[in-house]
Amino acid sequence: MPIRKDLKPLYPANWKQLSTDLKAKAGWECQGCGMPQYGLAFWDEGLGRYQLIKGNRFYDQLEYTESYKSAIAAKQHLEQWCDYPNKLIIIVLTVAHLDHDPTNNDPSNLRVLCGRCHLQYDEPHHRANRVRNARCGKTIDMFEP
Ligand SMILES: [Zn+2]
Repeated sequence: MPIRKDLKPLYPANWKQLSTDLKAKAGWECQGCGMPQYGLAFWDEGLGRYQLIKGNRFYDQLEYTESYKSAIAAKQHLEQWCDYPNKLIIIVLTVAHLDHDPTNNDPSNLRVLCGRCHLQYDEPHHRANRVRNARCGKTIDMFEP
């Protein structure tokens, strides 16, 4: 999950190294759902969750790929030659601030999560921000004719 430009100054200068170290310590897997960094998956309607792709000869060679470029190549190959019930996604690990404060980088406040788990974790916080911003917007509306 890219860091919002306006929040970037709140992150420490060593954020990239800190987040990389945390991902490595987590075994390059989401601490929410266990999906691996740069794994390929598709949404399984029946299970109501993402399914990691297994058993494809080409993919097996790249299963523990170290680079995002390799994951993109594998995804393009699979989309060209295989049929999946839904669009393929590349799992990308992020580091979440559990208290939503990017200045609090205490290890107990940080968790390695895939994009989906991170969004789910942040959703109540984002919803509260939307409500607060909408209220602020109404305040500004009183200046309109
Ligand atoms: Zn996850």
